[in-house]
Amino acid sequence: MVEATKKSLDYFTRNFSPYQFRQFRILEFPGYQSFAQAFAGTIPYSESIGFIADLRDEDDIDYVFYVTAHEAAHQWWAHQVLPANVQGATMLAESLAQYSALMVMEREYGPRQMRRFLKYELDQYLTNRATERVQELPLALNENQQYIHYRKGSVVFYALRDAIGEERLNAILAEFLQQWAFKGPPYPTTRDFLDLLYARTEPRHHPFIRDLFERIVFWNHRTTRAEARKREDGKYVVTLQVHAEKVSTDGKGKETQEPVDVLVDIGVFARPPGGGEADEKVLYLAKHRITQAETTLELVVDELPYEAGIDPYNKLIDRSSGDNRRRVTLVQ
Ligand SMILES: [Zn+2]
Repeated sequence: MVEATKKSLDYFTRNFSPYQFRQFRILEFPGYQSFAQAFAGTIPYSESIGFIADLRDEDDIDYVFYVTAHEAAHQWWAHQVLPANVQGATMLAESLAQYSALMVMEREYGPRQMRRFLKYELDQYLTNRATERVQELPLALNENQQYIHYRKGSVVFYALRDAIGEERLNAILAEFLQQWAFKGPPYPTTRDFLDLLYARTEPRHHPFIRDLFERIVFWNHRTTRAEARKREDGKYVVTLQVHAEKVSTDGKGKETQEPVDVLVDIGVFARPPGGGEADEKVLYLAKHRITQAETTLELVVDELPYEAGIDPYNKLIDRSSGDNRRRVTLVQ
């Protein structure tokens, strides 16, 4: 907790704005409830979710680090900028706290470890939207729907960061704080945030931003074929067949197919014998513009590939995230 606090305060003050207090308190409260919450300068934290965490398994996500970073981020997103009490309000508090915590985590664990976390967030969003009783709303209009403002919020902001860059996004957030921090009414809405976002990004990003924040869109990607052939010079030619699909839906689940036009990661990875995903080595990773449902790509890599795929780090909202990668078969 202390470590996560120090690293969070460091990242947020460097990238967003100064921390407004002289102290930062974490208070332990008994396990009658199991949550942590951010008050101004003070984080009540249940004994049952942090203080007794068993983090001996290094493969487990260190949720204490993550929860602490999220609550620390609320000192900015809720305590510096207070959203207007309208649709989308929780995006400005919870989704921005999620994004901020993700950036601190990424610094701690490395970008490659983020996939597991993002996949978890994505799956939680997908599972919970299925049990929506009223209507699913786009992130920027959500009505305090947790699967949207936390789960989808993480994935959306990570995808935005990936598209426009961390520096740009943080500069926009710093400007948003400058405009709205410690102000009385009228309080900002997600419209104010999006107006600033559109104004500070190139028009080529705008359709994607609209899809992420103002619509409900799925990019269903999968790899249907991954083969490699060894060349005489020792390099490998990887033939990759990928399927891409874009679907939008209304709040009741009525779906519409949309034309495919996406800038997406294509990756090829190697693994040491017996190694897992954490040991993988990136042989190729680049953004490709995909405009067809079926696309065949040919890539050359230096080493024997193990896996390859489209959106291999699960950065986009995809209803079946497990089929983006495929084991590469070696052919003669
Ligand atoms: Zn929160």
